[in-house]
Amino acid sequence: MDACDGPDCRETIKELDTFLDDELSAGARLAIRHHLEGCTDCLQAFDFHAELKQVIAEKCHHDEMPADLLSRIERCFDLDFDGDGKIG
Ligand SMILES: [Zn+2]
Repeated sequence: MDACDGPDCRETIKELDTFLDDELSAGARLAIRHHLEGCTDCLQAFDFHAELKQVIAEKCHHDEMPADLLSRIERCFDLDFDGDGKIG
């Protein structure tokens, strides 16, 4: 499917982490939701990240995640999973 080649998809994926952290404006969230309704590729990417984020957050919370492993995952995805404001 080439639905995800447009600038729309790139914008959507770029906002993924902010969207999941609930830090977007209502208008921006609505635009993303609207895009996800029509774009399976982005929806799958969002689902995957949402799930991953949840698992990692849980493991961080229970102190089950070694710090160096978390750092590697953050660098790999370029996302701040534990919410400490830095990648890695
Ligand atoms: Zn898309």
